[in-house]
Amino acid sequence: DLRTVKNFFKRNGLLTLSVISVITGCTLGFMLRGSQMSTQAKIYFSFPGELLMRMLKMLILPLITSSLMSGLSSMESKACCRMGVLTVTYYLWTTFIAVVVGIFLVIIIKPGVGTEMESNRLGGGPVMTSADALLDLIRNMVPSNLIEATFQQYKTDLIPILKVPTKTIQPNFVYVIPDDNDPKGRMVYLELTPPPDVIYKTSPGSSQQMNVLGIVIFSATMGLLLGRMGERGVPLINVCQCINECVMKIINAAVWYFPFGIIFLVAGKILDMQDPSTLGKKLGWYGVTVLTGLFVHGLVLLPLFYFLLTRKNPFSYIRGLLQALVIALATSSSSATLPITMKCLLENCHVDRQIARFVLPVGATINMDGTALYEAVAAIFIAQVNDYELDFGQLVTISITATAASIGAAGIPQAGLVTMVIVLTSVGLPPDDITLIVAIDWILDRFRTMINVLGDALAAGIIAHLCRKDFPLSTPKMTMKFVPV
Ligand code: ASP
Repeated sequence: DLRTVKNFFKRNGLLTLSVISVITGCTLGFMLRGSQMSTQAKIYFSFPGELLMRMLKMLILPLITSSLMSGLSSMESKACCRMGVLTVTYYLWTTFIAVVVGIFLVIIIKPGVGTEMESNRLGGGPVMTSADALLDLIRNMVPSNLIEATFQQYKTDLIPILKVPTKTIQPNFVYVIPDDNDPKGRMVYLELTPPPDVIYKTSPGSSQQMNVLGIVIFSATMGLLLGRMGERGVPLINVCQCINECVMKIINAAVWYFPFGIIFLVAGKILDMQDPSTLGKKLGWYGVTVLTGLFVHGLVLLPLFYFLLTRKNPFSYIRGLLQALVIALATSSSSATLPITMKCLLENCHVDRQIARFVLPVGATINMDGTALYEAVAAIFIAQVNDYELDFGQLVTISITATAASIGAAGIPQAGLVTMVIVLTSVGLPPDDITLIVAIDWILDRFRTMINVLGDALAAGIIAHLCRKDFPLSTPKMTMKFVPV
């Protein structure tokens, strides 16, 4: 009846609005595609979406540092240690399972077998090896300058340069314009007016991306130590708790802007999208394989693990996360979604505050099940297109490097595409062949980000359940209801 509908909207209003925004954004984007908008007009049009991204990014740094410092400072060493080990083991295990699902599906579906496919290979570019990538990962763990870490992520600039049409340029990458006088080309960001017809893309912009991993490690260490300093640590702990509360309040206010921002974020992306009918059949099957894998992992295996480990209904838990999943779909960045995931976990899923404050920031940085699955599928797809037989040993190598590459990928749009070079070179595939899958990467990125976020959030529920004896005071509180008589 009418009251049930009203109650539903009261409880799910924001979520409903967000879903409507995604649909409106898609419709608007497709309607305006024929209108030949100029680059300038597109920038104005996407502005509300850009603002949404900026709001989310603004909250990452205070949220991560204050969550980890205040969360870990109030835990006992033994409980901390147990939770840390459980979290990292669970993350590695589920990521590896995701890779196995991907490998299994791509071998069965065989999307890349058949006639040749065009690639934009430029050849000869320098290549990042697995060792380089590992070193980068470790470098990021130990930032040499903390202030710099808030705007710089270390990436060896050895990634092949891809040829990209200017209409697909994105803010997180460094672009290079070919220059006759300089063999390496001219480095450019996005200030080019008018943009040239074709530019070349290399690794994510080192000057633009925050080193979240380094910040997570530093804040966790500070939190652990603060808790052991007794009285002297209390002032700083109080400051962190205060900042954390403020950030959560800002998030609660900012979410009301999100449905509006989402419309333009999604529409802007659709305006720039390549015409789907020009993508070949093989690429279509490749997309289907990735999406099937993500579906199986996110909606069958992860819920199954949740059920087996906690004996609770995974789907009612996932229902509480829907808002975060919509934001992940709209932003394709698990770091940017982190504030909303935190809000959903605390308010809808009632996960223990201390656990969520540790498990989520760590997960958003290292746990990327969707990315790992996609990297494995993409590497084997490229092997199939090249008619390149992979033996069992090489499949094992792919599963290990895909897991490592997903840990190394930052939680930003299309980071997985870049770290995939590690997987390809580890089995001798040409890294330039990434160009084969670039055309549909932006859409797959959105779905794999959803699974990355889902994996982190389910992990928080599982770890909270497994560690419930260590945190007896913080199990969901009974709320008293006053019934008017
Ligand atoms: N966009 C993904 C994320 O933020 C990473 C990736 O797979 O590219 O989780």
